[in-house]
Amino acid sequence: MSDYPSNNRTWQIIHNARKGGYAVGGFCVYNTEGVLAVIKAAERCRSPALIQFFPWTMHFQGPAFIEFAWKRARAASVPIAIHLDHCLKPTDADLALECAFDSIMVDGSMFEEEENIKYVKSVVDRARAEGITIEAELGRMEGGEDGLPKIDLESVWTDPEKAKRFVQETGVHFLAPSFGNVHGPYPAGGAEKHWQIDRLSKIHEALGDETPLVLHGTHPLSDDMVRVGMKHGMVKINENRSVRNGYHDFLTANAGKIELTAMQEKGVEIYSQGIERFMIEVFRSAGKA
Ligand SMILES: [Zn+2]
Repeated sequence: MSDYPSNNRTWQIIHNARKGGYAVGGFCVYNTEGVLAVIKAAERCRSPALIQFFPWTMHFQGPAFIEFAWKRARAASVPIAIHLDHCLKPTDADLALECAFDSIMVDGSMFEEEENIKYVKSVVDRARAEGITIEAELGRMEGGEDGLPKIDLESVWTDPEKAKRFVQETGVHFLAPSFGNVHGPYPAGGAEKHWQIDRLSKIHEALGDETPLVLHGTHPLSDDMVRVGMKHGMVKINENRSVRNGYHDFLTANAGKIELTAMQEKGVEIYSQGIERFMIEVFRSAGKA
């Protein structure tokens, strides 16, 4: 694959966003409605997008569901990639490399530094053969995320120089730094108090444009803080709960009262409105596809 990684869908979406001065949403979804909502929002806004699953989906719905999402994404009229978020277990990475993912986030945060480098590099080497690109986390963010166990470890902030070395030695394409961001909820004072902007900006500087940054820990986060992240090199912004609050409220109000077909159709519509708001008002990815 001589054109790798520039022929990779996730790589193209992220680097186009970087060059265009906007961000792209990595939307974590769990069901068919989530997949369809991201596609609907992206097409309606003419925005690129990333559909993200957790390893949970590889086990609950299985690889065929990821293939369904991939096929729907490829049939869309705008660029949409399929990404695996927080792949913690080496056995899950093995499985993920056989699934229809365009990119995988390898989370080696449970390993010590040298072991993390060795592990992530081994996945990058295998991913290259499949045309898949890799996101990794360096340092460790506090807290767990839906579908993932909460790792009982203290957060470790990313050191800018170590980040540079990590990217060089592993060959990862995108980096999720730990700079006081947490996998929600934020302690008192919120991201405004806990983010170390100085650290983030040094990490951005050390890595340069070739390794776009990924923002984890957006629940909850004000639109303004997302914009602060974008200003300091965040190109891929992971969104999970924040975009589907309206969808949850709709389900709660209507479960058992309307037909399941109507629940799903209307559910996708409401879900997609939550996503569109971010594409238009925060990421500025609307109209870019
Ligand atoms: Zn995360």
